[in-house]
Amino acid sequence: MMVPSMRTMQVVQPGRPLAAIESPIPSPQPDQLLLRVRACGVCRTDLHLADGDLTEPKLPVIPGHEIVGEVVALGAAVTSFSIGQRVGVPWLGHTCGSCAYCRSGRENLCAGARFTGYQIDGGYAQYAVADARFCFPIPEAYSDAQAAPLLCAGLIGYRALRMAGDARVIGIYGFGAAAHIVAQVARHEGRELYAFTRPDDSEAQRFARELGASWSGHSGERPPKPLEAAIIFAPVGALVPTALEATAVGGTVVCAGIHMSDIPSFPYRILWGERTVRSVANLTRKDGEEFLALAPRVPVRTEVELFPLSEANEALARLRAGRIRGAAVLTCE
Ligand SMILES: [Zn+2]
Ligand SMILES: [Zn+2]
Repeated sequence: MMVPSMRTMQVVQPGRPLAAIESPIPSPQPDQLLLRVRACGVCRTDLHLADGDLTEPKLPVIPGHEIVGEVVALGAAVTSFSIGQRVGVPWLGHTCGSCAYCRSGRENLCAGARFTGYQIDGGYAQYAVADARFCFPIPEAYSDAQAAPLLCAGLIGYRALRMAGDARVIGIYGFGAAAHIVAQVARHEGRELYAFTRPDDSEAQRFARELGASWSGHSGERPPKPLEAAIIFAPVGALVPTALEATAVGGTVVCAGIHMSDIPSFPYRILWGERTVRSVANLTRKDGEEFLALAPRVPVRTEVELFPLSEANEALARLRAGRIRGAAVLTCE
């Protein structure tokens, strides 16, 4: 019998372009859904995976952890979803469920966690399987493509914003997919927003102001007033001291990316005054539930650039060059 196959784009060897590979359509295990992928967001993490910056991928691997798909088959133990339903698959794909982190609302830090599009095949494919316990229903207000960036850029941005606490004056370094979503949530919450981009990126600076930033400029500039918190989405370690210098005493600098170049040494005086530097790692399912309930109420509008699955390498190249407005999304026609 011939096993039905699907088109995929895979990381076979980091540092090389993704390869177009025809693979068998997977069958769902008892806890899994089989999804026909309708759209899959392209995240900066995929770029780090393709470049070999992340050290624990399964190889080869199908990247993609912002999957919007339609349920086409259910594992025997799944009761939470039904055939035909539209669901989202995020980065967090598995946890042990029993360690101290899992039991205290910090499953994002579980040592046994596995991640979609990294250690579990993801959504750069026509079909994907996912553990139903880690999938979310997608709010109806969103099209498939517009929902995809909510699943990582949105979730991680939301978690990073929560880490900024009650700060009223927020700086965002790097204005890509996550920033364009978090900006809308921050404005909805009545916060003031200051956006920092690459030096010559007047397009991103304009985009930030369209989304409600009171000011935008390049990352070397000082904002017109001290920040109460800063969120760094750009994978550039040198921005940590830059952001600390722009942040008032008592403020927090949140590093929201999974990978960053080395942070240069800096004088203690810019950390003094109870400033905090912290990272944000992964997401919990609670983050997902909260954010997907909040997004349509803001309402968050995602701006997407669409690419066919076969052009995943082009989408990654555009992301690397900073030439995506909002988020890149692959569509699987
Ligand atoms: Zn655990
Ligand atoms: Zn991501």
